[in-house]
Amino acid sequence: MSITENVKSILERIEFAAKAAGVSARDVSLVAATKMNDAAAVAEAISAGVSACGENRVQELITKNAQNAYAGAPIHFIGHLQKNKVNQVVGICDIIESVDSAELLELINKRAALLGIKQSVLLEVNIAGEDSKSGLLPDELERVLSKAADYPSVLVRGLMAIPPISSKKGENRPYFAGMYKLSVDIRKKKYDNVFMDFLSMGMSGDFEDAIAEGSNMVRVGSAIFGARTYPQSAI
Ligand SMILES: *Cc1c(COP(=O)(O)O)cnc(C)c1O
Repeated sequence: MSITENVKSILERIEFAAKAAGVSARDVSLVAATKMNDAAAVAEAISAGVSACGENRVQELITKNAQNAYAGAPIHFIGHLQKNKVNQVVGICDIIESVDSAELLELINKRAALLGIKQSVLLEVNIAGEDSKSGLLPDELERVLSKAADYPSVLVRGLMAIPPISSKKGENRPYFAGMYKLSVDIRKKKYDNVFMDFLSMGMSGDFEDAIAEGSNMVRVGSAIFGARTYPQSAI
């Protein structure tokens, strides 16, 4: 199957899952997770109709952006963002999905203010409390959300989560449901400068379950581009 055929088939599956969840497929964005895929592959995914591209590594983002790989699509940053790389992504990415500390929020705000822009971000939640993962624990969210008011050049637009790697169908549904509940609770509390527009969850193996539990932004990599072959140096 080509990238174009894969995107078409995923869009159909999203349509079906959205309908079953009682929402419009137009309200569910498909973010192509483009890591390890070159500019030509990215361009094919964009012309096949993905809503945005999600990049994990700053260097890969900068390289592909210089090649004009993302032309026609918004760019999301979805990987772990180191503090010393903030200046390289603010203003280039439409949404930084992986903000996992108040310090990072502060640095993003500083850079966005300097550029005279408002930077949209999502807060990444470590919903299963895994030691190996970055992201805020659910009980750390409150502190960061109440800080958002101090950072007028940042817009907190929602939450993102990467649940545990799972091979069993449906295993992550309770985590997706937990994320949805968090987003509803946050919306009710009406923090200043916090908007719960986006709930980014669901990947190749589980995006339909995520949509069933209220996701409106799925990040799909291997189901679009095929299995990733990591270079030896990265293993
Ligand atoms: C790679 C990646 C994805 C997509 O993973 P697949 O299982 O290949 O669909 C989604 N989110 C993040 C943060 C990723 O790094």
